Amino acid sequence: MIIVLTGAPGAGKGTQAELLAKREGYRKVSTGDALRKHVKLGTQIGKVAHSIMERGELVSDEILFKVLKEELLTSAPEDVVLLDGYPRNIDQARTLDSLGDAQRVKAVVQLEVPRAELIARLSGRRVCGGCGATYHQTENPPTRAGICDKCGGTVAQRVDDRPEAVAVRLDVYVRSTAPVVQYYREKGLVKQVSGVGELESIYKDLRGVIGAL
Ligand code: ADP
Ligand code: ZN
Repeated sequence: MIIVLTGAPGAGKGTQAELLAKREGYRKVSTGDALRKHVKLGTQIGKVAHSIMERGELVSDEILFKVLKEELLTSAPEDVVLLDGYPRNIDQARTLDSLGDAQRVKAVVQLEVPRAELIARLSGRRVCGGCGATYHQTENPPTRAGICDKCGGTVAQRVDDRPEAVAVRLDVYVRSTAPVVQYYREKGLVKQVSGVGELESIYKDLRGVIGAL
């Protein structure tokens, strides 16, 4: 079964999905991570997606469908899949519905964070190019500036965390992704969890909601 994790960029979906996967054994599927991998490897998909992602816009539904299929290929019907970053518009939600019983959406968990906090988080976020660990310029900087505590890799700002791209991403979220939540709400599938506060307390809330499904 699939559990869709949704929420605005910067809500903390990726971080929480990572923790849930590690501690509870769920399978994490992130379309953003998958696309970044394509970019890094220089695949055909990566070449097309690269500049679109840097601007903070949505990559085409056609490409996303390929990426999603590829990522779900190895998951069995009994796996609990946490889907992070998909669907981001109504057409993608319909595509997901069309995959059938083996990949059924059991619930949509929305992490809620106020807009001002999202902007502060995204603009201060720094990411390790080596292992993907995330830091925050003021809240949680690496011990040595620009160097990852975990792997020694280079810590830098993601191009799409620059202010111009952050504005685009938040706008895309309101216009395209918020209607997806409404779509699932009408099906009675939406659960809301506050994404504000201590990481561990948000984690506990999420685990509670998902565990009760
Ligand atoms: P965020 O941190 O904004 O939630 P992600 O890391 O999930 O972003 O994704 C980064 C970028 O990858 C998006 O801004 C978009 O360009 C692209 N992307 C990821 N998932 C999708 C999707 N489902 N549809 C279209 N584009 C996507
Ligand atoms: Zn690292």
